[in-house]
Amino acid sequence: MSDCLPIIAIDGPAGAGKSTVTKLVAARLGLLFLDTGAMYRAIAWLVLEANLALDEQLKIAQLVSQAKIVLNGSQVVVNGVDVTEPIRMQEVTSKVSAIAALGVVRAELVKQQQAIGAKGGIVAEGRDMCTDVFPDAQVKIFLTASVTERARRRQQDLLERGQGEVSLAELERSITERDLIDSNREISPLKKADDAVEIISDHLTIEEVVDLIVNMYRQVA
Ligand code: C5P
Repeated sequence: MSDCLPIIAIDGPAGAGKSTVTKLVAARLGLLFLDTGAMYRAIAWLVLEANLALDEQLKIAQLVSQAKIVLNGSQVVVNGVDVTEPIRMQEVTSKVSAIAALGVVRAELVKQQQAIGAKGGIVAEGRDMCTDVFPDAQVKIFLTASVTERARRRQQDLLERGQGEVSLAELERSITERDLIDSNREISPLKKADDAVEIISDHLTIEEVVDLIVNMYRQVA
């Protein structure tokens, strides 16, 4: 990978601010950004639309292999349908982790993610960027915060998106449930890579987190 532009890989649990930070770091450094959670959400949306049960693995495998996901900045289009908004709805959020745990889904999406990052020059965020998808990334971050803080930020986020007020208790419950599934699945569970730098963002501003990562990148680029 030495001829390639560097890759910044960012993992962490739900609601840690990965998307926001990733977009800002990419903008500051003139790199592309890759929101891999959006790809899993797009597949979850397709599975729900097709009314498939989790044990219908053959049908899910077929659906994933035929799915055409296009990421255009923050816009997400799957099979020609703009799903940017629907993939953020609670129905998708509550099902996505179970669907992302399926081997048939991961195999296909990881392949696509590695193809997108083949030339480097990207900031990629998800759950297995540092551990599996880009293990040779030059900058590896595990971005986290307490569940309380993550629920608070998610609440703010939903309000800003006009999706109404969800209680902090409900958000903590759903974040914890997603973390549990993501951390305990068999394939590529969410965990900090041994060589990733952990950033706990409870008491940091977004700008401070962005500065930390940009400085790390500048030391290797
Ligand atoms: O990051 P976001 O919350 O949008 O991710 C949605 C879900 O997609 C996660 O809870 C996780 O189950 C799955 N995911 C994954 N691997 C990634 C990115 C997301 O399993 N690299």
